[in-house]
Amino acid sequence: MRTFLIVGLLLSLVGCANNPVTGRNDFVMMSENQEIAVGRQSDAEVKKQYQVYPSKALQDYVDSVGQKLAKNSHRPNLEYHFTVLDSPEINAFALPGGYVYITRGIMAYLNSEAELAAVLGHEIGHVTARHGVRQQSATQAANIGITIASIFIPQINTNVGHNLTNLLGGALLSGYGRDHELEADRLGADYLARSDYDPQAIVKIIGVLKNQELQDVELAKQEGRAPRRYHGVFATHPDNDTRLQQAVGEAAKQTVAQPFAGRDEFLTAINGLIFNDSVEQGVVRNNRFAQAELGIALQFPLDWQVHNLPDSLLAISPQGEANLQMKLGKPNGTPGNVARILAGSNGQVEEVTINGLSAALVYLPTATMGVFYVDQQAFLIQGTSKTAPAYIKYKTAMLEAIRSFHTLSAEERKQIKPLTVRVITAKSGDTIAKLAQRSPLGQSAESYLRLINALYPTGEPQAGQKVKIIE
Ligand SMILES: [Zn+2]
Repeated sequence: MRTFLIVGLLLSLVGCANNPVTGRNDFVMMSENQEIAVGRQSDAEVKKQYQVYPSKALQDYVDSVGQKLAKNSHRPNLEYHFTVLDSPEINAFALPGGYVYITRGIMAYLNSEAELAAVLGHEIGHVTARHGVRQQSATQAANIGITIASIFIPQINTNVGHNLTNLLGGALLSGYGRDHELEADRLGADYLARSDYDPQAIVKIIGVLKNQELQDVELAKQEGRAPRRYHGVFATHPDNDTRLQQAVGEAAKQTVAQPFAGRDEFLTAINGLIFNDSVEQGVVRNNRFAQAELGIALQFPLDWQVHNLPDSLLAISPQGEANLQMKLGKPNGTPGNVARILAGSNGQVEEVTINGLSAALVYLPTATMGVFYVDQQAFLIQGTSKTAPAYIKYKTAMLEAIRSFHTLSAEERKQIKPLTVRVITAKSGDTIAKLAQRSPLGQSAESYLRLINALYPTGEPQAGQKVKIIE
């Protein structure tokens, strides 16, 4: 009985289908209807994991650009769905059957409608060439039947990435090979040209991603950590340099007489876009972290770099000599109890009241910690340093940060607002350094402002030019 069922399933999945791009018959396992069904099913899961960005105006705008490209693609009759996801990740991906996603995170880094079209065009290329379907083995198709055709920049070392990996199985993001990525770039260039956008926009967005990598290398150096590079399953992705070369070649083959850039249209559409973390994830402004749901806030030293990670909050000192990390746990007895366990035999414990909260401080040879209880939640803030001299240098700053931990007043809670992208017109004398002063991005404000305005690493805005700032 079981054997019969499996054979029956495989027969229904395996078949030859006409590839819309090449016109040849591909050995694929899904009919178009099955492909659409798989896409629709996975779409619900993606939306559950990521949340849809709550702006109808922005969704409509992105959809209108996407639909224009889709009409000029190799599968114009497929029903396409374009969705902006409420995620700070810099990413875009596609599911089989015409489901295309772009994060609000990547939107902040784009500077024209043509660049948005380049991102969407690339993803439409994955759909029309049926990359998600072509990659399936019989087993995968039988089990899950899905590969997400990502990906501009693979940042799945995030919560969402892991959740999705678990959700959709190992097939997720198991790497479109470089051939598929390059094919998607080529198809994207084609759809751009047919829709009166300059295919060079693809070159521009790959440049943005490259600059992102360069900025991270620079930040990593300052923070004494390893840069976030491609690794593991992403080894098959073409690096952005190779991709840039190829894309330049592809784009040069296509010329559009009067290309539409749509810089003003795009900047108007993203004015007010949420940047970095949402209120739910906790907002970092000028190195002050505040989280409404947990009802807490604390202030990190101003010259440190703060990272709001899925499972902890991390602040790194200049040169990475010391760091502060906040984690959540379950209360166990009093804060003093937890502190004594953490202190072990060579640490000292001090039971204190900090900002009205019963707390305990732990002093170790090169580390100091604070334990707080708020409602049913324990907060551990751990300050560690690489060396004894670094501990002497940073001990006061670390203790000050720990002692700034407090519960939010009603007024503070009301004032938690996410960082937003604001489009302004540069006045004469406006420099990135000057604009960075009024931004809440902390130490790296200048390089971030340059990145989002395509002015990295040393560009300056011209008077009268529209510029994105972060408020
Ligand atoms: Zn891709």
